[in-house]
Amino acid sequence: TLSDRLSGIFTKLRGKGRLTDADVDATAREIRLALLEADVALPVVKAFIHAVKTRARGAEVSQALNPAQQIIKIVHDELVGVLGGEARRLQFAKHPPTVIMLAGLQGAGKTTFAGKLAGLLKGQGHQPLLVACDLQRPNAVNQLQVVGERVGVEVYAPQPGSGVGDPVQVARDSVAHATRAARDIVIVDTAGRLGIDGEMMAQAAAIRDAVEPDETLFVIDAMVGQDAVATAEAFRDGVGITGVVLSKLDGDARGGAALSVRHVTGQPIMYASTGEKLTDVDVFHPERMASRILGMGDMLTLIEQAEQAFDADQKEKMAAKLLGGEQFTLEDFLDQLTAVRRMGPIANVLGMLPGMNQMKDQLAELDDSHFDRITAIIRSMTPAERTTPKIINGSRRVRIANGSGVTVMEVNQLLNRFGQAQKMMKQMGGMMGLPGSRRKAT
Ligand code: GDP
Ligand code: MG
Repeated sequence: TLSDRLSGIFTKLRGKGRLTDADVDATAREIRLALLEADVALPVVKAFIHAVKTRARGAEVSQALNPAQQIIKIVHDELVGVLGGEARRLQFAKHPPTVIMLAGLQGAGKTTFAGKLAGLLKGQGHQPLLVACDLQRPNAVNQLQVVGERVGVEVYAPQPGSGVGDPVQVARDSVAHATRAARDIVIVDTAGRLGIDGEMMAQAAAIRDAVEPDETLFVIDAMVGQDAVATAEAFRDGVGITGVVLSKLDGDARGGAALSVRHVTGQPIMYASTGEKLTDVDVFHPERMASRILGMGDMLTLIEQAEQAFDADQKEKMAAKLLGGEQFTLEDFLDQLTAVRRMGPIANVLGMLPGMNQMKDQLAELDDSHFDRITAIIRSMTPAERTTPKIINGSRRVRIANGSGVTVMEVNQLLNRFGQAQKMMKQMGGMMGLPGSRRKAT
C-alpha cells in the first residue's frame, strides 16, 4: 500500500544526518511509484512530485526536525494541499429551501449518505426533507424510507399506485412540498447505474434542471481505484459537481481515489462516510486523510508540537552537545521533561507515537503530579550531582529526598530510570531525536 511504501522510504531516511539532493530524488522516485501503485492518476502524481521536490530542495528546513521528519512534513503538507486544504462547508440558499442533490454510481453509498446528511443537518437544527428520486429499482424508495425513519426525517416519495414514475416530476414536486411544509433543506437521492451510462446521466441532468440544486454532491466509493478518474470526469461533465463525498472510508481504501477525485473535479471533498450506521459520517478533514495515506498515525501532530515546544536554541545546544560525545545529564533530562510537558499531558504525547497506543494504560500512570515530583527531585540536586549522577551516594539521596519532600525510594527510582533513559538516548538515534547537523537558519 501507499502507506507501507512511504513508511519504507522514511525508515531509510531515518538514520541520515541531512537531506541531500540525491536523497530527495530517490525519495521522490519512491513516492511516485507508491502513488501510481495506489491508483492515483498520473497528472496528479506529476504535480505532486514536482511540489514535493521543490520544497524539499528549498531552504525551508526546520531546525527542530531531522531529515525523515522533514520529508514527512513536506509530503504531508502537500497531500493536505492536494486534498483541498481547509474543509468547505455546505452552501445554503439565500431563500430556503436549500436543495442538495446526490449523484454517483449505483452502490456508491448515496442513499446511505442521504440519511446520514439528513441526520447531521437535523442535529444542527435544520428541517430536512429526503426525496426519493431513484425509481429504477423497486426497493430503492423503501430503502430511503427506512433510512428516513431511522433519523426521524420525512421522506418525500411518489404514492404507491399513483402512477407517478417520473423522477424529474417527483424532484420538482418535492421542492414545492418542502416550501409548504417549511422544510429548509431538500436532499435529493438519485438513481445510479453500475457503470457510466448516458441515460442515467441524462436523467440526473434533468433532475438537476428541475430543482436547480445549490449543491450537487458526487458520492464515490473510496475503494475504487483508477476508475475514480473516469467516473468523476463523467459526472463532472454530465451533471456538474460542487462537492465530493467519499464513502466507505472505513474499509482499507488506499487513498488514491481521494487524491484523484479532488484533482479531476477541482471540487472539495466535503464529507467522509465511514460505516453502515447512520451516525458514521464526518466532515472531511484533509489533514486526517493525509495522515491516513501517510500511515504515520498521529506522528505528524507530534512533529508539529515538537516544533513548537522545543525552541530552536535549546535544540541546537542539545544537538551540539550530544554530537560532541558529551554525557546526557540530569540537567538535560529536566530540560527535556519541561519541553515535553509543554506539549500537553504526557499520556497523550506518548500515545501519539506509533506503537505506543497499546501502552495507553501504563502511560496513564504517568500523570502530571509524577512529573512535578521528578522536577522537584532534580531541582534539589547540586549542579555537580546533576552532571555526574554517579556521585549521588546514600547520604546525598537522603538529603535530596528531604529537600524535595519525597521518599528515598522515589529518588532511587528516578536515578534508575535516568540510567535507562541515558541508554535509550544512545539507541534511539534519529527518529525522535535531534537534527544531525546544523542547517541554515530559516
Ligand atoms: P447507492 O446505490 O449509491 O444508494 O448506495 P447505498 O447507499 O445503497 O449503499 C450501497 C451499500 O454500501 C449498502 O449496503 C450500504 O450499507 C453500504 N454502504 C454505504 N456507505 C457505506 C460506508 O460508508 N461504509 C460501509 N462499510 N458501507 C457503506
Ligand atoms: Mg440508492
